[in-house]
Amino acid sequence: MRANYHSHTWRCGHAIGREEDYVKTAVEQGFDILGFSDHTPQFFPEGYRSGLRMETGELPNYCRVIRELGEKYRGSIRIHVGLEAEYYPDLFRELIPAARDQGVEYLLLGQHFLGNEQGEHYNGAPTADETILRRYCEQSMEAMQTGMFTYFAHPDLICYQGDPAIYRKHMGRLCREAKSCGLPLEMNLLGLWSGRHYPNLRFWELAAQEGCQAVLGWDAHAPEQLCRAEAEQTMRKTAKDLGIEILDTVTFRSLGRY
Ligand SMILES: [Zn+2]
Ligand SMILES: [Zn+2]
Repeated sequence: MRANYHSHTWRCGHAIGREEDYVKTAVEQGFDILGFSDHTPQFFPEGYRSGLRMETGELPNYCRVIRELGEKYRGSIRIHVGLEAEYYPDLFRELIPAARDQGVEYLLLGQHFLGNEQGEHYNGAPTADETILRRYCEQSMEAMQTGMFTYFAHPDLICYQGDPAIYRKHMGRLCREAKSCGLPLEMNLLGLWSGRHYPNLRFWELAAQEGCQAVLGWDAHAPEQLCRAEAEQTMRKTAKDLGIEILDTVTFRSLGRY
């Protein structure tokens, strides 16, 4: 079974291509399952625009378009509609019912900012501040504990450049929590082929030590990004060398009562 649950659409403002072209490319590449997980809308206070995600009003159309593609390509590939979502404590209670009402099947945790985003640290920005690292881990652990997330996308997005021992201390806790919640961690192929600071080998050594499970995520922001065979092979080899199990498929966590 070949699956990718991490794909975007033009709605987030920094991905390109028609949804159907992602589906066609996935079929060509031999995927059995393609999940769309565009950047979720968030219910920010009036007057704030995030700039990296669809607006709340676009959610119904997004879900409808993906579902229609699922119908059209039934028999060739299984299509799922999900969202890549931050856990923003002040906004989460509004997000869950909205996503559920539109038939969103799963959420990936992608913790791009601390706090509730507005005026907060972007987690991919380099820092040597332990407080930022600690907050990232604590917020992500709280997110896992909600039980709403199916897996953790690029958990190693945090770009901590301070003492490696401090990194291991906090990220080790995060890995233990993922293990105890049964939440798989994503090895992000976009990060690998585009030369970002993640996947971070230091992180994956910890994940291996803690016995965490992994999932490959293409994080496709264009249809052709589903064809990165070389990055996939490299990542699979790294996982094997570290002794990390890569799951082919995942079980969705339901967006039940929250
Ligand atoms: Zn993106
Ligand atoms: Zn993504």
